[in-house]
Order: sequence, then structure tokens, then C-alpha cells
Amino acid sequence: MHHIHILGIRIDDVTQAEALTHAATLIEDGIAHGCGHQVVTVNPEFVMEAQHNLAFREVLCAADLATPDGFGLLLAARWQGTPLRGRATGVALVQQLAALAAERGYRIFLLGAAPGVAEQAAAVLQRHHPTLVIAGCFAGSPHARYAPFIQQIIAAAQPHILLVAYGHPAQDLWIARHQPVLKIPLAMGVGGVFDYLAGRVPLAPRWMRQLGLEWLFRLMVQPHRWRRIITAVPLFSWAVLRAGKRGDR
Ligand code: UDP
Repeated sequence: MHHIHILGIRIDDVTQAEALTHAATLIEDGIAHGCGHQVVTVNPEFVMEAQHNLAFREVLCAADLATPDGFGLLLAARWQGTPLRGRATGVALVQQLAALAAERGYRIFLLGAAPGVAEQAAAVLQRHHPTLVIAGCFAGSPHARYAPFIQQIIAAAQPHILLVAYGHPAQDLWIARHQPVLKIPLAMGVGGVFDYLAGRVPLAPRWMRQLGLEWLFRLMVQPHRWRRIITAVPLFSWAVLRAGKRGDR
């Protein structure tokens, strides 16, 4: 799989359709060999966090699939002279995985988000895919003291796909720490995807997504995220410009 680097972080050059195909291969491999895989959906905030958080950086670079989720990555990649072919977002991948799971009988576990949100998100997925089997839903917490209990619940449910909504970097670190024991064929950090599926946070309209104005939409509907938007837009752009055309290494 072809990949590039932005500010030292590996990003796979996969389209949305290819991300699903690769995820499906990982699930089959996990089932056949009893091993776990990790998917990360990278956006500019991830790249910025990974500049100072070495544990997170290692997790991103070791992931079995690192999709280009954020629009800003596409602009940075083009500017560097290592263009990506398109975005492969977490929100779309979750919907694709739900369809695949319904078709092939894979069980999905939804971990994280505020109490009740994972259940609502699961109900929406199940409405769209009536044959989908939900292995379980649990809000829990990324804090280490809850990990043994959460591990027990997940191990008992035996899912093929584990979606973790603890926000980055917590969700991705949580998966990397527990996958060696859990060995879920595919585990993926999903950020606010459950909130979106449950209808608690709206997705930006298509035209804003196509113009790369998702950050403006987020600023309008969730103004408390202004600090994060500053990291994702001006600070990320500045870091990429400062790294120069050699920043892709
Ligand atoms: N979350 C959680 N426990 C925590 C921190 C966050 O369940 O200790 C959830 C939160 O409710 C939300 C998601 O994690 O559903 C984070 O969404 P966000 O859009 O902030 O994700 P990010 O952009 O950080 O990946």
C-alpha cells in the first residue's frame, strides 16, 4: 500500500473504497490467525498531537491502516508534492463496515461516548442494516482503572469489529494497549462518530465538506472547540509550511 508522511506521520494513500477493502482483508486475517489489527483515521489534529506525544506517534505509525480523514491532509500532501488521491473518513468507514458486517455476519462492539450514545448509534446502524449483529455497547472510560472490567465485557462479547469513541489520542492509545490481549480482528478509534450517528452532532453539509470548510461548520455548531480548530487549521498549516517541501519525511 502506497503511503506518504506529513510532519513525520505515516498516512496511507487509500480512497474510501480501498480503505474498506483493506479493512475487510484485516478482519479476515484476524479471524484466520487469531490476531488483532488497528485502524486509525488521521486528521491534522492527530498529526499535531503526535508532534509532542511520542506514544501516540508510535501508535499512528504502527497502525495496520492509517486513513486520510481530514481535508487539511489533502492540501498539505499536495503542497508537499506527495498528493493523496482522496479522503477516507472514519464516519464513512463505520457505515461501510456496518454494511459489510451485516452481509458477512461480523459482530460489532461500540465502546465509548457519553452514556446511551453508543446504544443510539447502534440502533441507527441496525435500522439501516437489519441483519447487523451488535455484540455490545458500553460507554465506560479510557481511564486505566476501568480497563480490566471493559476488557472482560469485550472478551465475553467476542466481536469481530471494535469501534472506540474516546476521542484522540485516548482511543487510539487504549486500542494499542489492549489489542495484544483482546485480539479483536479490527479495532478502530472513531472520535465523534457515535455522536453523529445518534444525531447529537450534525455533519457538515456536503458542499462545506467538499470545499474543506468543515472546520468553519464545527466552529459554528460547537464553538467551544475553537482551540482544537486553531490547532487543526492555522497551526497545522503553519507547521507544514515551515517544514517545507522536505516535511514529507
Ligand atoms: N469521550 C468519552 N470519554 C472520554 C473522552 C471522550 O466517551 O473520556 C467521547 C466523547 O463523548 C465523544 C468522543 O469521545 O463521543 C470524542 O469525540 P471527538 O469528536 O472530540 O473526537 P476526536 O476529534 O478527538 O477524535
